[in-house]
Amino acid sequence: MAFKLHIETRRLFLAHTWTIARNSSDYKDNVFIALEKDGITGFGEAAPNVRYDEDAQRTTERIQSVSALLEQTDFFHYENLIRRVRQQITDQNCAVAAIDMALMDWLGKALNAPLYRIWGLDPADTPPTSYSIGIDTPANMQQRVRERGEMAVYKIKLGSENDRAIIEAIRAVTDKPVRVDANEGWKDKHQALENIRWLAGHNIQFVEQPMPAAQHEDMVWLKERSPLPLIADEALHTTADIPRIADGYHGINIKLMKSTGLQEARRMIHTARAMDMRVMLGCMVESSLAISAGVHLAPLTDFVDLDGHMLLADDPVRGLSLDKSGRILPSDQPGLGVVMD
Ligand SMILES: [Mg+2]
Repeated sequence: MAFKLHIETRRLFLAHTWTIARNSSDYKDNVFIALEKDGITGFGEAAPNVRYDEDAQRTTERIQSVSALLEQTDFFHYENLIRRVRQQITDQNCAVAAIDMALMDWLGKALNAPLYRIWGLDPADTPPTSYSIGIDTPANMQQRVRERGEMAVYKIKLGSENDRAIIEAIRAVTDKPVRVDANEGWKDKHQALENIRWLAGHNIQFVEQPMPAAQHEDMVWLKERSPLPLIADEALHTTADIPRIADGYHGINIKLMKSTGLQEARRMIHTARAMDMRVMLGCMVESSLAISAGVHLAPLTDFVDLDGHMLLADDPVRGLSLDKSGRILPSDQPGLGVVMD
């Protein structure tokens, strides 16, 4: 049957300038794909990230480079298919993630069931998502919390001059759970420990990537002393990284764009469980398409941070909902259950 691969870069504008410890942005160029076979179309999205030397142009080229492989392989053989795609695309993990996502969307549509049902998961087991607040003045960050008063958990970006003033400003307006992400912003282990001890007195759930991923020995030192759980983000991509970093962190933040997609993310969850590590599911700045892929996996995790679509000025995809307890839930439609505008 006819095979079609459509690839398109879309510029997604952010509702507010997005600043973290290492950079600032007003928009993201994400790559959307539509994979059609046997009259069924699966959709996927890649969010290239400069931290991992990714961009929309190379992502597009890499996806095009596996077009013949996709055309020649039965999509029901998705495990070995994505393994071969990973062997051919080794430098733009987000490109593989888009393909994996489109295959899973296609699979659900072909079987006429939502992906979570195929995987035996119940959306009711999903933890509430955090809502992330990028670095800004303490007053503006406090205002973001007020504007999103319906959220159950907040994730506060730190790693600037104002870390303590920011947390004090946030704590002045909410007593809800707050988690912190320093995005490798603290370079000295003694400074990092001092910051974490101070945060532990302000009812913080955990700290994500306090120090640079490359400073692993410092993370081992920090883990032995930290009063709060430490979660790895920039320090890992795939399952193979987990044993290497386990002595420096209590848990891992899995992102589909780093992992090469849903199939590898599932393996990472089971590997982390076997190593008694906590599991968080995060995201990049993504539309509801890539976020929906994470949502189908979220019932397996401890912490959810699937808010990328909420940071957009105009989300081009529909289908997700936010319930009263702050959980992002999928629709009951087949596959990923979303509709492109
Ligand atoms: Mg992070």
